[in-house]
Amino acid sequence: MIYFDSAASTRPSPAVLDAFAKANQEYFANPSSVHGLGRASGRRLDEERSRLLSLFGLGKTHRAVFLSGASEANNLALKGIAFSYQNRGKKILISSAEHPSVTMPAKELAARFGFELIELAVNEDGVVTPEELERHMDKDVILVSILGVNNETGAISDLNALSQIVHRFPKAYFHSDLTQAIGKVDVPYASLDLFSFSGHKLHGIKGSGALIYRSSIRLTPLIHGGGQEDGVRSGTVSLPLAASLVTAVGEELSHLKENEAKVTLVHDYLWNGLKELDVRIFSPENGSPYVLDFSLNHHKASVIVEALSQKEIYVSTASACSSKIEHASTVLLAMGATNDEASNAIRVSLDESNSLEEAKVFLDTLSTLLKEVHHR
Ligand code: PMP
Repeated sequence: MIYFDSAASTRPSPAVLDAFAKANQEYFANPSSVHGLGRASGRRLDEERSRLLSLFGLGKTHRAVFLSGASEANNLALKGIAFSYQNRGKKILISSAEHPSVTMPAKELAARFGFELIELAVNEDGVVTPEELERHMDKDVILVSILGVNNETGAISDLNALSQIVHRFPKAYFHSDLTQAIGKVDVPYASLDLFSFSGHKLHGIKGSGALIYRSSIRLTPLIHGGGQEDGVRSGTVSLPLAASLVTAVGEELSHLKENEAKVTLVHDYLWNGLKELDVRIFSPENGSPYVLDFSLNHHKASVIVEALSQKEIYVSTASACSSKIEHASTVLLAMGATNDEASNAIRVSLDESNSLEEAKVFLDTLSTLLKEVHHR
């Protein structure tokens, strides 16, 4: 098997599974219970929360809320800010290359709650330039959301430059979806007002994730109930998932450079090989080495992805979360791709376990398929 779909999900690491199992055995009591075992679970949860913040170099200036994943975190960030601060202004800016878990809540806020949504253009590399953001910033903007690393192309946003522009406007908050960025590229965490991520993209467990936000921010909750997580997200907190998440982040951040070097070798080999084939590469040269996106010039992507799958080589068409629905990639369209290109993109996404041998087998197999399979 060759697994080239790590941007969709990864295998949980042994340390992550161990942290999950241990917390389940030792701290199964409800962290909100007032008896001794419950209080011990509560303290352990607080420790995990502080450890998570400190892994990002953050302290009391920020809070962490444990959630089910990046989709929930993005929804809480966008709706939580919009509902709390709508008296300050009604404008929300997002990039036109966001994941649907940002785009859809933003569109919902516009369609049903009277917010004005602006989708910032991306350049041919797939990123919002500081000039584009600057052009649309004004005193009515309350939230800007621009992702750190694009899940389809690997394009890396200049979060430092973008956050500086947002922070010239005191009423505006800057959120970034870091699902494909944490542990993979350097991120200026302290410059962000809020950021989201999912555990399962970094060898954590599916159903875990978090939103980190500045302590001064008051988020309107989406889930009401017992008032857990400071009232921001009711429901019994899963300490085992929280512990597994923090372990995953710790492992990824401590191996960032080493993993990046390994992945870059495989990425560069794939890149050079793909240049010789009947494809057009859409990932920018200076993007994340973990993601490589290309369009088939003359073949149907879904047919080739299925043919690769028959040979136990696993890749995605466009973004995996939505790839069961056949449609043109909005990210590639925003980058200037034609409809055919945007409908026939394949994403190869890597992790540190992938090897040059796998890359070679992939390229040989793809090259054969492109010759054998009929054109679209
Ligand atoms: N944002 C990005 C950039 C992603 O890649 C994904 C997963 N494809 C998500 C958000 C949503 O993550 P989840 O499905 O874990 O909620």
